[in-house]
Amino acid sequence: MKPILFDFTYSELEKFVTDMSQPRFRAKQIRDWLNRGAPDFESMKNIPEKFRAQLESVAQTLPVRVTKKLESSDGQTTKFLLELNDGEQIECVLMRTSYGNSVCVSSQAGCAMGCKFCASTLLGLKRNLTVNEMFAQILTAQWELRASVNEKSIRPNGDANNNDVSHIVIMGTGEPLQNVENVIGFMERANQDMGIGWRRITLSTCGIVPGIKRLIDWGRPINLAISLHAPTDELRSQIMPINNKYKLSEVLSAADEFTELHNRQLMIEYILLGRKDVNGETELYNATPEYAEMLSKLLRGKNCMVNLIPWNAVDERDFVSPSGNAVHRFQDILIKNGIHTRIRRERGTDIGSACGQLRLKHKRGENAS
Ligand code: SF4
Repeated sequence: MKPILFDFTYSELEKFVTDMSQPRFRAKQIRDWLNRGAPDFESMKNIPEKFRAQLESVAQTLPVRVTKKLESSDGQTTKFLLELNDGEQIECVLMRTSYGNSVCVSSQAGCAMGCKFCASTLLGLKRNLTVNEMFAQILTAQWELRASVNEKSIRPNGDANNNDVSHIVIMGTGEPLQNVENVIGFMERANQDMGIGWRRITLSTCGIVPGIKRLIDWGRPINLAISLHAPTDELRSQIMPINNKYKLSEVLSAADEFTELHNRQLMIEYILLGRKDVNGETELYNATPEYAEMLSKLLRGKNCMVNLIPWNAVDERDFVSPSGNAVHRFQDILIKNGIHTRIRRERGTDIGSACGQLRLKHKRGENAS
């Protein structure tokens, strides 16, 4: 494996270049390029071509390497399949939105949580990601944004911030609170080095209660999202094994403590699932009107926003998408009961943007495009 220069301290980088008979200032040039997310040495235009070729043969720039890049047909979503230095694959998604550029970051290679509707967990957990491997995902997105910069998109006052990453959602592959110390290190770094405000960072968890307590101790006012997906312990335990360890009441009470501390609105993620009955007809699973009433009761009085997410098909899973009517009926019941609710369409469905699908296809040697 080639050494990754992004992982070097500045003095290690200086030693590395002087050992290659280069002046010390090359270390600063390389560091500047790395901090901008340069994916290869070829991009480092102020470094002599011969030295760039030497570097290419002995070292790697970032701890992630783009092996596949897919653009949605509307040009708003870019999905990256990234290879880590040990050959593991992860996904990262850049979403260009009206409020800014948001990056969905993976925190683990694979996932051990076993949620029954999710592709990311099908091959189990491989390992936790390091702080640098998470940070390099947002640098990769940032490089992509700047590479596609168009003069017209720069605001009249010359502010190029609309070509910067402005928001982070830790909602990609993996359960972030199973890798909580590295995830905290990553958020600290994104805040300090890229100026991404705490309120522009959202962490989504399936409900690891000790991890939520750790976030409370950490004390930063990020946004917390709970992947709920069912309003009763009985139903939730059927699709989310973690519910056998941390019950709904325990998870919501820890989440309340977090959001009250920071006066933040709690995000509730709820994937709407259907399935085929014995006659091959679609029946609702967790998306019936009865469950909408139960969810309303569970959340009544909480400062929360429910994101309803119609199921995005994963071949290996038995669920199907409920009809548009069923989705709207579910939402109407929540709204009637005074629960803030919106329907979140998965972005980039034409590029398989449901979490873990691209990685899964790659692992199986299928063409993921
Ligand atoms: S939904 Fe999240 S926690 Fe559950 S298996 Fe998928 S990646 Fe893991």
